Amino acid sequence: MRVHIFWDSQSPDGYQMPVKRLIESILNIRTELAENPVRIMGYVNSRRQVDAQALLDTVYAYKRRHLMMEPVLLIVPQDLFRNSDSFVFGLARESVGAGVVSTARLGNEYYGRAGSDDDYIDRIAKEGAHEIGHLLGLPHCTDPECVMFKPDTLDELDRKKKVLCPSCREKLDAVMGAG
Ligand SMILES: [Zn+2]
Ligand SMILES: [Zn+2]
Repeated sequence: MRVHIFWDSQSPDGYQMPVKRLIESILNIRTELAENPVRIMGYVNSRRQVDAQALLDTVYAYKRRHLMMEPVLLIVPQDLFRNSDSFVFGLARESVGAGVVSTARLGNEYYGRAGSDDDYIDRIAKEGAHEIGHLLGLPHCTDPECVMFKPDTLDELDRKKKVLCPSCREKLDAVMGAG
């Protein structure tokens, strides 16, 4: 099974390939990279954020229209929120195979620190692998170093390693092995 990565044209350019490769190595899967063909919906002026749920609705609509059965991960530059969550790094809806990651809060610059390409790539890849993990059936993990741990802060995201813990690895292998 391939997973599609839709990279929005407004997301920072030049990071696509390193992020793709890192996601593939974290999860041991194949991915297909493409420029995002889905229109970014759900922008809320008063919050200057995009409603992640509305965006996933749009991804799902696109998938249905194009009869795409494989999971899709969208990478967007807009800051995302969800219901009562003032922001989310990303969101996945396993039932329709659609996920999204925002790069808005993944750069050091957002926190007033000096920029680092390596940090940026690592974070997008860890968040991307996390949401794809959900799309492939993995729940959250309690191991703070596992990619499937749910980070609420940048520090928690940075503490995660670029691997699945043995338990999540085993679950994913079972899913992928089953075809
Ligand atoms: Zn999650
Ligand atoms: Zn785990």
